Amino acid sequence: MTGSPEARGFAGAVLDALTSHICVLDSSGTITLVNEAWRRFALENSPAPAPARTGVGSHYLEICRTATGPGSEEAAAFAAGVRDVLEGRSELFRLEYPCHSPTENRWFVGRVTPLRGDQHGAVVSHQNVTDRKLVEFELAKLAATDPLTGLPNRRFFLDIANREVDRVRRFSVPASVAMIDIDHFKDINDTYGHAAGDEALRHLATSFKSALREVDVLARLGGEEFALLLPGTNENGAQSLAEKMRAVLSSTPVSAGKSTFRLTASFGATDLLSDDLDIAAALGRADAALYAAKRSGRDCVKTFSDLDGPTQSVTRSN
Ligand code: GH3
Ligand code: MG
Ligand code: MG
Repeated sequence: MTGSPEARGFAGAVLDALTSHICVLDSSGTITLVNEAWRRFALENSPAPAPARTGVGSHYLEICRTATGPGSEEAAAFAAGVRDVLEGRSELFRLEYPCHSPTENRWFVGRVTPLRGDQHGAVVSHQNVTDRKLVEFELAKLAATDPLTGLPNRRFFLDIANREVDRVRRFSVPASVAMIDIDHFKDINDTYGHAAGDEALRHLATSFKSALREVDVLARLGGEEFALLLPGTNENGAQSLAEKMRAVLSSTPVSAGKSTFRLTASFGATDLLSDDLDIAAALGRADAALYAAKRSGRDCVKTFSDLDGPTQSVTRSN
């Protein structure tokens, strides 16, 4: 522990035994004491010259205020939290924040609590929570992923597509959605077996993914049904992309075990409209276009605009 001689002793040894980076602030926000973990972290991570690096004698709010680049917003929020505790407006301030180094991604939880008694001030602790954070990211990814194809699942798709609907409503930007359904998939299962059917689903996912831009989302909605969200692309653009996907799929046979077979799919595309209340409305139109593609012989792309008037108005009013 680094600090005034009277602050050392048993309490100091306890502080030095803790893995959290801990410092004590006086009532003005000046760092009066740091534990060993704080000192080591500061020496390894601070760009300041060695004597100034541990921070004792520095004004903590000033350090937060001078933070620039990534993390400066969190530093400003942290400074506000420290001020609230020092000035008696808060009993606990807590903030989780990223603190990446050039070689690794790290996350910390910072806590500030009041120090009472003769030496009024605050105790600040920063705890590395990277392990927990990585598990959280992994769980979130699993919850959003279809395990068979590795594509985003229905839940993730609806969530992100509803956000896109909001964007279209607010800014009237172009965006479109397409529904995709494998043709005669039941026959593929019946003829080549369920494992070959699974392989066909993975094959479709792989061959479609390479046609997508970074912002596009291809998801497996369930069974042999997929959906495509195309931010910034209108129905015409969706139709062209779907046509390209259709052609690639129908011309690349699937190999599953000893079997090789042809796979085709039907597509239905539509614009997201600024009066859509949610993605369900647009998916309804895409589904109507998909149904038209199935009726006109499968292995083709239809748009909602292709449909005749009565079908459009029926679907729109649903
Ligand atoms: P259509 O051209 O009209 O779309 O006919 P289809 O046979 O593709 O449609 P249908 O809805 O009759 O059959 C879908 C089949 O998809 C039935 C179901 O067993 C199969 N299926 C759903 N999920 C999976 C899966 O995860 N793996 C496999 N292998 N088959 C699946
Ligand atoms: Mg289906
Ligand atoms: Mg089908």
